[in-house]
Amino acid sequence: MDVEEFRRLGHQLIDEIAAYRQRLATEPASLPVMSQASPGQVRARFAAEPPQDGGGLAAALPQLDRDILPGITHWNHPSFFAYFPSNTSLASILGDLVCAGLGAQGMSWQTSPAATELEEVVVDWLRQMLGLSPAFAGVVQDTASTATLCALLCARERTSDLAQQGLGLQDPKAARLVVYASEQAHSSVEKAALLAGFGKAHLRLVPTDDAHAMRAEALAAAVAADLAAGLAPCAVVASCGTTATTALDPIAAIAAICQRHDLWLHVDAAMAGSAMILPEARWMWDGVEAADSIVVNPHKWLGIGFDFTLYFVRDPQHLVRVMGTNPSYLHTAQDDVVRNLRDWGIPLGRRFRALKAWMVLLDQGVEGLRGRLRRDLGNAHWLAGEIDRTPGWQRVAPAPLQTVCVRHVPTGVTDEDTLTAHNLGIADRINRSGRAYLTPSKLKGQQMLRLSIGAELTERAHVEELWRLLQDEAASGAAALAAAPDATPAG
Ligand SMILES: *Cc1c(COP(=O)(O)O)cnc(C)c1O
Repeated sequence: MDVEEFRRLGHQLIDEIAAYRQRLATEPASLPVMSQASPGQVRARFAAEPPQDGGGLAAALPQLDRDILPGITHWNHPSFFAYFPSNTSLASILGDLVCAGLGAQGMSWQTSPAATELEEVVVDWLRQMLGLSPAFAGVVQDTASTATLCALLCARERTSDLAQQGLGLQDPKAARLVVYASEQAHSSVEKAALLAGFGKAHLRLVPTDDAHAMRAEALAAAVAADLAAGLAPCAVVASCGTTATTALDPIAAIAAICQRHDLWLHVDAAMAGSAMILPEARWMWDGVEAADSIVVNPHKWLGIGFDFTLYFVRDPQHLVRVMGTNPSYLHTAQDDVVRNLRDWGIPLGRRFRALKAWMVLLDQGVEGLRGRLRRDLGNAHWLAGEIDRTPGWQRVAPAPLQTVCVRHVPTGVTDEDTLTAHNLGIADRINRSGRAYLTPSKLKGQQMLRLSIGAELTERAHVEELWRLLQDEAASGAAALAAAPDATPAG
């Protein structure tokens, strides 16, 4: 391809993407939210062997429409209520385009000074937006999973006095380190604890209260029991917005326990962190200033496209001690006066992700982002109110943010298996209809439906439509149960 062809195809692709976004905004019903593709359907549309000769790129455009689009679940669709919001705003798309266009590697300051310095600027803007003090320094990482792994590695190395420089995990005389998180913590926390070498036997999943938040006194008791047993408590992961229900662990109370026992406090605010740009939401992470590390995912709710995770630490020197490597071919003359961000995380190579954040912030401004989040919180509040006042519907968790957790219990039905099948049937019929997409999930053994609000295009009318769909499908499921009470509802 020469530059002229790139220009021509590039303009055409921008037009295609603009048309797709336009369609999501103005004719969303023409796109099923959840992909209706069956396993293997997309693969079968592509040749099994790679093309031997080039020159065939023009074929990609029609194939995008014909073969790729049916295999896409539309995360930016206004009726996307599954998992979590993962918005890629239009400004973010342009930022990613510039990132690819420049093709820069940001592993060291010298390998593209702008990549490091713009990242420093936007990360500090975001720190201010979240209301965090300048005691925190931040860096962009790919995902919260990686950031939490970094946190637990740093915790391990702090408690073990940098054991990695010597016998590492293989010192037979070393104390056994223990990690604590709520039983509702994200799966990435357990994964990080295992990958960081703590061992499943040293991961304590602390019980939660009726609001599904960690019970601080249960944490204190677990730490005391481990100390009495001769183990070495090392780190606590507090969740600000759990995955199942956006429950809020009591960070201030947890921080006090951490301080007493010199434990690393990592705050997983991957989901709820975005809401902290709203001053009125900051009570949700009261105590966060005592954290050693914090993770926030602007690639969820802030419109900065995947991947863009913020990792904040109080002690960047410790992070660099644990993550830094300095082979001679990476030495540069500026090493003493600049940040080499390869030493602030696991990968060596780094994309110029700051561009998309910069462009989103220029495009929307703090007030624009705040307005959208307040709209989403208002919509969730409205839906929670409708559910609370409608007989047969139950809300199974508080809804401090934009996720509403519900289940439908038809009159007279008490059998848990029947209720599970009934609620799974509601979700399955809605998801397969393509008209909205939600996530069925289990909460402490009970089947529920998770309704996560927050796509950029989602307005009140889309939430009202979701509520109508839920009530219609609940009614049809209940009618089938009444007609054949012993049969499993269709699903
Ligand atoms: C989404 C989420 C994660 C994982 O995020 P990734 O960036 O996909 O790794 C971790 N913790 C919480 C609370 C989350 O909501």
